[in-house]
Amino acid sequence: MKSSECQICGKKLTDNESIALGVGPDCAAKRASFVASCDTTEAELAVLESANECAARWIRNFRQDMRKGRIRQARQCIEIARREAVRVVAPAAPAVAAIELLEYWFSMPVHVEKRIGVIA
Ligand SMILES: [Zn+2]
Repeated sequence: MKSSECQICGKKLTDNESIALGVGPDCAAKRASFVASCDTTEAELAVLESANECAARWIRNFRQDMRKGRIRQARQCIEIARREAVRVVAPAAPAVAAIELLEYWFSMPVHVEKRIGVIA
């Protein structure tokens, strides 16, 4: 079942179309422009989310950054998710560059780092 809360503002969604989209009418335009400014599309997000668990995790991080309006972090999530998705097709491809992960983590507030287990 789809969430009945707006993925961006968290308000309760009431009409079926909004519930299917996961965003309310007010936030749909905001989300479209955020997605576009991250050089991605809803279609790509869906593909990455279903590629593998690692890529899906970064897309979840992306959505969280989108809710908070953190565009720089959101773009990094997309970049990393793309690399993770490619590893399914080419398992021999090198792991995600450690520096990118560190840059991402250091750009997040401490409580987020704790949540994803970067620091104890
Ligand atoms: Zn909303």
